[in-house]
Amino acid sequence: MQNHNLGYPRIGSQRELKKACEAYWTGKILLNELLETAKKIRTQNWQTQQTAGIELIPVNDFSFYDQVLDMSLLLGNIPDRYQPLRSTQSNLDLYFAMARGYQRDGYDLTAMEMTKWFDTNYHYIVPEFKKNQTFQVFGTKVFEEFAEAKNLGFNAKPVLIGAVSYLLLGKEKDKGFSKLDVIDQLLPVYIEILQKLQVQGAVWVQIDEPYLAMDLTDKERQVFVQVYTEIKKQVPQLKIILANYFDCYGDNLATALQLPLEVLHLDLVRCPSQLDDILTHKNLDSQILSLGIVDGRNIWKNDFEQSLQVIQKAVDKLGKERVWIAPSCSLLHSPYDLDFEQKLNPEIKQWLAFAKQKLNEVVTLTKLAKGEKTPELEKALQENIQAHQNRKTSTLIHNPKVKERLQGICEEDFSRQSSFVVRQALQKKRFKLPLFPTTTIGSFPQTTDVRQLRARWKKGELTQAQYEAEIEKATLEAISWQEEVGLDVLVHGEFERNDMVEYFGELLEGFAFTENGWVQSYGSRCVKPPIIFGDVARNKDLSVRWSSFAQKHTKKLMKGMLTGPVTILQWSFVRNDQARKETAFQIALAIRDEVIALEQAGIQVIQIDEPAIREGLPLGKKDWTTYLDWAVKAFRLAASGVKDETQIHTHMCYSEFNDIIEHIAAMDADVITIETSRSAMELLNAFTAFKYPNEIGPGVYDIHSPRVPSVAEIKQLLNKATEVLPLENIWVNPDCGLKTRRWEETKLALQNMVQAAQELREEV
Ligand code: GLN
Ligand code: ZN
Repeated sequence: MQNHNLGYPRIGSQRELKKACEAYWTGKILLNELLETAKKIRTQNWQTQQTAGIELIPVNDFSFYDQVLDMSLLLGNIPDRYQPLRSTQSNLDLYFAMARGYQRDGYDLTAMEMTKWFDTNYHYIVPEFKKNQTFQVFGTKVFEEFAEAKNLGFNAKPVLIGAVSYLLLGKEKDKGFSKLDVIDQLLPVYIEILQKLQVQGAVWVQIDEPYLAMDLTDKERQVFVQVYTEIKKQVPQLKIILANYFDCYGDNLATALQLPLEVLHLDLVRCPSQLDDILTHKNLDSQILSLGIVDGRNIWKNDFEQSLQVIQKAVDKLGKERVWIAPSCSLLHSPYDLDFEQKLNPEIKQWLAFAKQKLNEVVTLTKLAKGEKTPELEKALQENIQAHQNRKTSTLIHNPKVKERLQGICEEDFSRQSSFVVRQALQKKRFKLPLFPTTTIGSFPQTTDVRQLRARWKKGELTQAQYEAEIEKATLEAISWQEEVGLDVLVHGEFERNDMVEYFGELLEGFAFTENGWVQSYGSRCVKPPIIFGDVARNKDLSVRWSSFAQKHTKKLMKGMLTGPVTILQWSFVRNDQARKETAFQIALAIRDEVIALEQAGIQVIQIDEPAIREGLPLGKKDWTTYLDWAVKAFRLAASGVKDETQIHTHMCYSEFNDIIEHIAAMDADVITIETSRSAMELLNAFTAFKYPNEIGPGVYDIHSPRVPSVAEIKQLLNKATEVLPLENIWVNPDCGLKTRRWEETKLALQNMVQAAQELREEV
């Protein structure tokens, strides 16, 4: 029996790589310095893993930006628009240009598209394929890093994204071909890479094929068999660990077991039940099973007693030689090191394990499962048992009042008093808004001034009263500015919020925050998700203070602004001791109370943002309905406590709605604002095809760019919307919140937006 690791966080334990990359991009440091930082991080990561006792250590899991983009470079898959840079730029600059775009020396090259890595909050750069696509071994990173690790004496295992998943992750940029057919060009180059690694001395190679957790067609499965059969034929001595994660092999199990390879990795955290299926499968031959038993995506301590039982089951069937121990997936999705946390409540801290602690868990489990007996191992086991017992009964976690309330919710709690038609009539009468009412999504520019205010307040340099006075000032300015421009429904600007989840988490019971729990989101961007450790309760107002302050200073409608339960859940580390649904409903009840409190404070329009509903979709379609049912119910639970004449908005960005439109409709928000400008209103098709009954604000300009849209442009988009939607249902708003923009462009853009709406009112 042995252990291995699938990948380690690479941003640096103090985000050194983030800082170095950003400094390099702005010309503050030279290439050499960036390369030095990168090398230091790699060496440190390998050392940490070796010291912990990891036997087979991943290399090429390091990345300057993204592992899928690394693969594109390795395979020489460089879209035509970047070709001119090949002769003028270093490979790394070419790579950064692909990731971030290139506006210099007379070039204006857009960045490659970015999208979510399966159901994580990590984003990868989408490979592009064209007709007559060719490949060549171009990048050298994997070879260099393998040599580097080997020279330093580490037992290194190169990690590559599998050929099939690489294709499936990408996008066809031309018509008239299927990316799957590109495999004939890709496979020989892929095999050349494996051969080179073998010549360099690689014994093992880890090939990630996470698409084996997705719904596949028969054709796609055939390609899997074709690829791995050919690899075995061409590079027979190289031993392959095939890694699949984030879900079960499911219907692809028979295929996976048919592939000629040495080790098959299973994610037993996300799909514990698959172990039985595999152990009894007729295709199981002489493979080694790598048991992904330590959660690579969440921050909870492993339950040793339970894990040992699972491991024992595999050992009974296969023998110790055919069982490996591993994290469920790459530790890329975990924060670095719990030891950096000095402020966490020690009781909570003893329940947690970050990447470095997870390495120890893998090693300890391997030793315990092998039957080793030392005083340290016995102590580790006892401590682990203790921590879990404590967690089961801790009063920090368990709040009987919350559990009781959840037990008591009934069908009526999920529905508004009347149907949308009735509510709409009441609201139209009450608000008397013009046709095409204008509004924004909530946040206004978070200038350095505002951020510094918060930083100084947190450091204790400003008193609570001083801080609030400054935020009030910013809010008042935003209000009078909105009045001047002539917006119809105003917002307070969210100046008091650092982040739309963290802000609410800090005020709710059941949340904890880390100082250094950063996880890479994309490129140099990291997020620090809150930890939901206990029953969620609202013991104080969350937003009433700011919304009612703002409403008092305007005669116009002031929209209350909240984050929805599914988004709070999705952007946090969540409990693993109860179902996600349960946690979502607890958050929903807290938000529901806040919605009612806002109504009582005189707020008549309340927006509950749910941008993360779609990203929470399970990987396999068979699980979609179950998820969507409770996700929609959680939203409804949050939204339904108010009177008919109170208007509930929701907001969602970067979502495709086609396949989930009926569930979006089931949320029954009076108004939904969505991101549509980048697709030129194409996203509206789903709504019109479904005859979506409620009001919609299709975003009329892209807030990701500083570009100011013209009145004509906005009107053109709005005209498209009027062709497919009933006029009385259309709102006018930007795609999303404006917190990343500057005031200059925000003002100009919103002025144009209001003017476009006014002109359109005259014309229809
Ligand atoms: N109300 C939030 C804002 O305006 C919404 C952000 C989002 O959808 N991601 O910033
Ligand atoms: Zn948004």
